[in-house]
Amino acid sequence: MAGKPQRVGVLALQGDFREHLAVLSGLGADGVAVRRPEELASVDGLIIPGGESTVIDKLSRLFGLAEPLKAAIATGLPVYGTCAGLIMLADRVRDAIDGQQTLGGFDIEVRRNAFGSQLESFETDLDIPQLGEPAVHAVFIRAPVVEEVGDGVITLASLPDGRVVAVEQGNLLGTSFHPEITGDIRFHRYFLKKIAARS
Ligand code: GLN
Repeated sequence: MAGKPQRVGVLALQGDFREHLAVLSGLGADGVAVRRPEELASVDGLIIPGGESTVIDKLSRLFGLAEPLKAAIATGLPVYGTCAGLIMLADRVRDAIDGQQTLGGFDIEVRRNAFGSQLESFETDLDIPQLGEPAVHAVFIRAPVVEEVGDGVITLASLPDGRVVAVEQGNLLGTSFHPEITGDIRFHRYFLKKIAARS
């Protein structure tokens, strides 16, 4: 990474976008809160944060961002979704609310709130060969899991019971959990490398 810092947007309609912006600035990237199509047009990559996918969906349509976001994904903009952000990137969603839409792009089917009310939040360590040692400490908060993956999708991490919780497909990266709140910057660094490889 030489010269100009990478300009990385964080969709800032709802959810924990501030935590992502803080990680980006710690990595020397130029993090930009994205709320309008003009802001989206100026970035080299985008993070869709955790929060509530039904709200992010509604606000993105209300603010005229849904169509520009879909177009950006289709033309290869690197996009990383965490938790609700991963739901927004999924082509298919189980346990969606009535009328809920996603941006799509990821050939996966996710289940919202997959751990149910008994286990709304939990933490565990995940071995992720692409990120090396040590294991990634992953925090799950009312998290989705990936229940089906298409042919072009790489599984980066699974739980011990086999449920898939981190995936990659071309320009897209997604985690069911929240690296932005643990101080482990490896997923963000991995995403910045994807952006650099494209530009
Ligand atoms: N359950 C939320 C949803 O469906 C996701 C939770 C999160 O992002 N931490 O969007």
